[in-house]
Amino acid sequence: EGVPGALHLEWLNEPQLEAATNLAGPMLVLAGAGTGKTRALISRIAELIHKRAARSNEILAVTFTNKAAREMKDRVSQYPVNLAGGMPWMGTFHSICVKLLRRHAELVGLKSNFTILDTDDQNRLLKQLIVAANIDEKRWPARLLSGVIDNWKNRAWTPETLPSSEAQAFNGRGPELYAQYQERLKTLNACDFGDLLLHMVTIFQKHDDILAKYQSWFKYILVDEYQDTNVAQYLWLRLLAAGHKNLCCVGDDDQSIYGWRGAEVGNILRFEKDFSGAKVVRLEQNYRSTAHILAAASGVIAGNSDRLGKELWTEAEGGEKVRLIGHWDGDEEARWVGEEIEAMQSGTRGRAGMSLDDMAILVRASHQMRAFEDRFLTIGLPYRVIGGPRFYERLEIRDAMAYFRLAVSQDDDLAFERIVNTPRRGLGDKAIQTINMLARSNGVSMVEGARIAIETGAIKGKGGKGLAELVSNLDRWAAILHMQSLPELSEDAVIDGTSDLGLPIADLPADAPQTHIELAEVILDESGYTTMWLNDKTPEAPGRLENLKELVKALESFENLQGFLEHVSLIMDNDTDDAEQKVTIMTLHAAKGLEYPAVFLPGWEDGLFPSQRSMDESGLKGLEEERRLAYVGITRAEEVCTISFAANRRVYGQWQSQLPSRFVDELPEAHVEVLTAPGLYGGGYGGASGDYGGSPLQDRAARADAYNSPGWKRMQAQADRRSKSSHSNAKGLVIDATAVSSFTQGDRVFHTKFGYGTVMGIEGDKLDIEFDKAGAKKVVAKFIVPAAQ
Ligand code: ATP
Ligand code: MG
Repeated sequence: EGVPGALHLEWLNEPQLEAATNLAGPMLVLAGAGTGKTRALISRIAELIHKRAARSNEILAVTFTNKAAREMKDRVSQYPVNLAGGMPWMGTFHSICVKLLRRHAELVGLKSNFTILDTDDQNRLLKQLIVAANIDEKRWPARLLSGVIDNWKNRAWTPETLPSSEAQAFNGRGPELYAQYQERLKTLNACDFGDLLLHMVTIFQKHDDILAKYQSWFKYILVDEYQDTNVAQYLWLRLLAAGHKNLCCVGDDDQSIYGWRGAEVGNILRFEKDFSGAKVVRLEQNYRSTAHILAAASGVIAGNSDRLGKELWTEAEGGEKVRLIGHWDGDEEARWVGEEIEAMQSGTRGRAGMSLDDMAILVRASHQMRAFEDRFLTIGLPYRVIGGPRFYERLEIRDAMAYFRLAVSQDDDLAFERIVNTPRRGLGDKAIQTINMLARSNGVSMVEGARIAIETGAIKGKGGKGLAELVSNLDRWAAILHMQSLPELSEDAVIDGTSDLGLPIADLPADAPQTHIELAEVILDESGYTTMWLNDKTPEAPGRLENLKELVKALESFENLQGFLEHVSLIMDNDTDDAEQKVTIMTLHAAKGLEYPAVFLPGWEDGLFPSQRSMDESGLKGLEEERRLAYVGITRAEEVCTISFAANRRVYGQWQSQLPSRFVDELPEAHVEVLTAPGLYGGGYGGASGDYGGSPLQDRAARADAYNSPGWKRMQAQADRRSKSSHSNAKGLVIDATAVSSFTQGDRVFHTKFGYGTVMGIEGDKLDIEFDKAGAKKVVAKFIVPAAQ
């Protein structure tokens, strides 16, 4: 198979070859997990260059994560094709948009050195606006507003184009706050994540000449994971591809897992309408997983009704069944996984030659990671965390980054506010208010406001001195940075002996930091920030200093500070140090498109996975999205897939009794082996016979009884019902429609999250409840207990 002699086409099967070599016009590759969609896409890029259909930098390929983009770049450069035209544009929607936006920032009221805010900054800014608008921030929190605004941006709605149907959002104040927020961002010379796309769509829509330029420049456009594009991304693509119409999208409707972020799986279904004459290629052979793993995944996804439906097959017969194991609690689960990993690494379990890089733990919620991290630290097992609570979200890193941001752009008020009195410079709230007021009344940034405060003596004494020192430091760092970057500036940026910053042009003094890395160290030093932590006696301080070192080290892989800051705002993954072999820990969402020989899927418990929140908020649609996530999880595994659940779990400090996920019931029995956890009360789950039907639940109930867990009777009733229904149907029931809830209308009930409420209606195992505080919600019955009165 494949095309001998053409390395980039070798081994491809018939339909893959079609996808890779049929270059002209629109094409959609629609196929299940592991069928070689991404591989075909990369081969297509190589073929485009090989056939000289376009110069390499006239090709635009959009991936979902930076990791995927990196892998794509590696693969393309390994093929013997001529890359003299430069690398193709390969990156995420955001990373590509940020490049384009820097060139055209002024068209949306920004400068080209705009900063990108993260959610923390975004929320702080929104909070200021909410408070200024006299809205009770407790009832109408910034988080809620940022969700509303993100959602609008995902739909490509600007304040000007917001439809009237949205007028009531955020208690009727949403639209006005959105407009204010966008204005504030402009004054800060900043944009948020959603703006990167929104601004580009706006620019394309308003400036025909610019759109035309890019339409003709990008001769071929390719998109991976197309099922997860949102409206804004879709519009952007459609605008760009309208010229040459050479758009190739690959995707899988069963792997659409970003609906909660505005992704529209409908984009896939609409493709053939939007691009008439589109070729559609389907791939059916899975090259990634063994037959058992594939069958388990297919069994679970079959529970969804809203599917296009695809057949998948594999030549990889045999192999291990999917393994299922229950644990007493989350710590036990982490301990067991740690032992398994060590056994697999040493070859005492499974095949020889399995390295830590071959293993991944995929969690539903990032709070699950901590147990694994704690355990692995204890036993000295190297691991990396991707997309979890990130390195860059730590306090000291955010402070340091704020200093860097100010060196790059003095308009960044959020960064200024963050560090103006960190370390302490004797500037209290009042002084900061004064600076703020001076900045507002003069229509300038806070750094400028601070200058006025110093000159007019508005802030005196210790605070005044500290502020003056900070401002002069900021100026010096900006000047050094500027001089470091001069060779890269175009000539017209230099007018009559001064640079575009108005700073005199001179050679960088020999004793000045010569690189952005040295400058970063100098900044942390001269600002007093490093000293602050050196003098700090709390137990965290040494770790924080370590992290700062780590941060400076991370700068080494970037050409300049701005590039680094950009990277940090864009990354979904921060695996910088890849030399050592490590187990990967990440969320299921971040694992899309990846594959590992051995995959652990912990925490398959109702409420955690499927997540209660997604079901509460989106009902059956939410559940189907969770099921697709389960499908994504299982199909990441090549050889070994281990699913686990725990009977007790601590969530945000609270112990909770857990029931196995309904997805556990939906695993086809023939492809599952049930393992017995050591040390479990009652001897485990029906032995290793493979007969797990019902027994995990019964055993669970017995243990709950033994430990005299409150409310266990309710759980037993639930468990019995669930095990019956799952037995009546090999595939399991999606929603237990046969279940009769033990509640009746008018009952007073209690829910751990929503508090007290009254049952208004019953639908299968779901209750319509009018909560006293939280309002009307649809909730699965098992999360409800009768209220005392
Ligand atoms: P996902 O839906 O998870 O993104 P995918 O359809 O993009 O999966 P790939 O990641 O491209 O699938 O391929 C899955 C695995 O199969 C990879 O290891 C890839 O190298 C391998 N593969 C793809 N096509 C072939 C082929 N024709 N022959 C042998 N191996 C292949
Ligand atoms: Mg893929």
